[in-house]
Amino acid sequence: MLTAAAKPRIVVSKCIGFDPCRYNGEIVHDKFVARLEPHVEFICVCPEVEIGLGTPRDPIRIVSSGNALKLIQPASGLDLSGKMRGFSSGFLGDLKEVDGFILKNRSPSCGFTDVKVYSGPEKGPVIGKASGFFGGAVLEKFGDRAIEDEGRLRNLNIREHFLTRVFACARFRALRQSSSMQDLVRFQAANKLLLMAYNQTKMRELGGIVANRNRKRVSAVLAEYEKTFREAFHKPPRHASPINVLMHALGYFKQELSAREKRHFLEMCESYRRGRAPLSSAVSILQSWIIRFEWEYLRDQTFFHPFPEDLMALDDSGRGRV
Ligand code: SF4
Repeated sequence: MLTAAAKPRIVVSKCIGFDPCRYNGEIVHDKFVARLEPHVEFICVCPEVEIGLGTPRDPIRIVSSGNALKLIQPASGLDLSGKMRGFSSGFLGDLKEVDGFILKNRSPSCGFTDVKVYSGPEKGPVIGKASGFFGGAVLEKFGDRAIEDEGRLRNLNIREHFLTRVFACARFRALRQSSSMQDLVRFQAANKLLLMAYNQTKMRELGGIVANRNRKRVSAVLAEYEKTFREAFHKPPRHASPINVLMHALGYFKQELSAREKRHFLEMCESYRRGRAPLSSAVSILQSWIIRFEWEYLRDQTFFHPFPEDLMALDDSGRGRV
């Protein structure tokens, strides 16, 4: 279950809704980040302001120079590469307990992918794409966390995967405080269907870690579990995997349901498989049966409530499949 203690900690580019710190003094309004705010703990950062550039300021760009990339401010001729690298490594080195990042796309500082690289400081054409200086440092140090930009998060599937990942990791952080094997066993049981949807190999590995046949210390078991748990959520689930989970859950109600009810549910699963209905349509039918037949084991499964419901806007339900 989601608790106040399980709030994800997310580093966010400060210009996305928190401060008009863009080079031109503007702020980026983003509905998703605004909706997320009450549910998470945001850590806001503007790397360009942190290295002493004022607002507004002359824009900066990434320039190819020999075999290296430099961060240059064409108007002043300043090379900001060293300063930005120094800030990034200090800031990221001090970060503790972080579950994810939402970075400004295309920024030469914050962008983590698809940032333009120019052939020269002033009039040179674009010759390629790279990570921004800060975004690249995030990828290097926190490649096992959920990292997205506000543009990609407009896609329903990318957003769902991001949210599932950060809330799952936050729940684990909350559990780790207790250092209890019993709590870990309960955690593994509650996440079974979610892990089944994401990565069955990792789900079995995690089961083995929890069984602790070699009688390792709790701290060692938790560290091993955390690493494998993060790996399980690295890639989004294959499209068919949640259907397997739904079928597995349907098995619990086999005796109680009428043929018509089962048929309706299977039709809904088929619509999801064909991309004509969101997964949530079939999931909500199952949820109503969980309430009706009081299946406690299923009720506690995070698969049915991986993150707060209001974080998926109705206006993009089912769109933007990748
Ligand atoms: S993209 Fe990053 S560096 Fe640029 S204004 Fe936003 S927070 Fe600051």
